Amino acid sequence: MRFLEAEIDLDILSENLKRIKDFVKNKSKIIAVVKADAYGHGAQKVSFEIQKDVDYLAVAFFEEAVILREAGINSEILVLFDREVEGVFKYSLVPVVFSLDQAKALSAQAVKRGKILPIHIKVETGMGRVGIYSNQSETIKKIANLPNLKIEGVMSHLSHTEDEAWTNEQIDRLKNIKEELNRFGINPIFHISASSGIYYPNALFDAIRPGIMLYGYSSNNIVSVRPCMRVKTKILDIRRLPKGFPISYGRTFITKRESLIGVIPIGYADGYFRALSNKAYVIVRGKKAPVVGKVCMDLTMIDLTDIPEVKVDDEVIILGSADQQEITAWDIANWAETIPYEVLTSLGGKAKKRYIKGGQYVS
Ligand SMILES: *Cc1c(COP(=O)(O)O)cnc(C)c1O
Repeated sequence: MRFLEAEIDLDILSENLKRIKDFVKNKSKIIAVVKADAYGHGAQKVSFEIQKDVDYLAVAFFEEAVILREAGINSEILVLFDREVEGVFKYSLVPVVFSLDQAKALSAQAVKRGKILPIHIKVETGMGRVGIYSNQSETIKKIANLPNLKIEGVMSHLSHTEDEAWTNEQIDRLKNIKEELNRFGINPIFHISASSGIYYPNALFDAIRPGIMLYGYSSNNIVSVRPCMRVKTKILDIRRLPKGFPISYGRTFITKRESLIGVIPIGYADGYFRALSNKAYVIVRGKKAPVVGKVCMDLTMIDLTDIPEVKVDDEVIILGSADQQEITAWDIANWAETIPYEVLTSLGGKAKKRYIKGGQYVS
């Protein structure tokens, strides 16, 4: 059977959460983002591990929340991007409302069921994605007047935290809406910051929504978090090839010397991007081995010539550290010209997941 595993260290995950909470001095509520199967780390296990230490979990779509509820997760779940109405009640979820129509449908259903539904309202401040974008305060007041809805939160999303002036402008837009609503006696919690915004003190408001930071990636090192996922496979075959031998589709790599070329059972169908062809490294026996030739759908070739005593079935680290060497999602992202988010969601998605706690495998 093909060996491709993602090991997720739940202690590191918990430690990352603790460091984030320490950084905001426990003053902001924590909305832990576990969308996209917890960025490839497995949303059920991750949610079980952290639910007692966060105020909400957040998912993108209704179906993701159902999976968590059916697995027995009982914390508050915020659903970021879905118009689901009936299921929100059935599974006791907190929907993010981004239009008046959506609020009306939820209100009507709440009335029908004789329930008060907590909601968060999303407002546009410059992301250009979802959120109420015109007559914002007026629309929120209209929503506040709909029966059986409780506005528990008002939120927005930062689009370009590398730009300080722009970020402050977005923060000010939310602040203005907050002041306007407060004047009308509407006092929910406000939140705008994901991982990269938490370094702006005035972006903290009442809650933050960390995603990638939980999993160990931060745009700088102010909060020192550590990656909690490692992806590994094993060498499928090794061949000694003469100088001048072409490797893989398109013959983009030709051996420059007599070479030991290994084959590993991972390819672009497993989220090991084709853009990594002739760019990436993997770790074998504590040494970096370069990817040679084009990454195929299910297979990739690596140059093992400089690795003494290497043999079939040796472990290959695709992502993570081993024997002083480390390959991070940043490295892979740079090689493939993408971002760590895409690396984690792609690689974590296909590998068989195993979880570690107290240094032991727990599943
Ligand atoms: C994905 C997402 C987050 C988390 O973002 P990170 O950069 O991973 O911390 C927070 N809020 C919203 C609305 C999101 O879509």
